[in-house]
Amino acid sequence: MTNKRTEEIELAKDEAGANGAIAAYMRSIIEMIGEDPTREGLRRTPERFEQALRYLTSGYQQDAEKILNHAVFSVCYDEMVVLKDIDVFSLCEHHVLPFFGKCHVAYLPDKKVVGLSKIPRLVNMFSRRLQIQERLTNQIAHAIQDSIHPLGVGVVIEARHLCMAMRGVEKQRSEAVTSAMLGAFRDNVQTRQEFLALINRRGV
Ligand SMILES: [Zn+2]
Repeated sequence: MTNKRTEEIELAKDEAGANGAIAAYMRSIIEMIGEDPTREGLRRTPERFEQALRYLTSGYQQDAEKILNHAVFSVCYDEMVVLKDIDVFSLCEHHVLPFFGKCHVAYLPDKKVVGLSKIPRLVNMFSRRLQIQERLTNQIAHAIQDSIHPLGVGVVIEARHLCMAMRGVEKQRSEAVTSAMLGAFRDNVQTRQEFLALINRRGV
């Protein structure tokens, strides 16, 4: 069991392609900011940084089709499916600093649904790339649209951006809210409002 687990971790490392190339650059960067990469606390930092960065950008090695494969089911269900408060952690492509918050996803099925656990995985996949929040929101909506062709999809992301908060840009505590509304969620006010009411209802 332990061996198998170790094997899996090694495999995951290989898949992520950690080969020390990023670590070498990071060692130089540590020097350039006036630090000593050989002091004890920093000695393994370049390797840890490489592993972290490769993990946080591992979404480039995945695609939506594979994630949703075998998880599309035919059903006689035509009510709205809503998943709210999915954790989102991503990196802004302008500063390579984190933005994070909550993602809410809904769709109106048309004879097909997707396994519920696949939606957070889809959110993770698109989040683990260099992103802007607007595109991330759109990509999640379109991936669902393309996989099960529902009557409509709604995605809302509320996130805080560390590039704003840490650099002291005005309104440090503000959250950016983005949304993508497709099909019935765009065309039908009632559908959209039902979605927004459901995600704003807390503690249910
Ligand atoms: Zn930024």
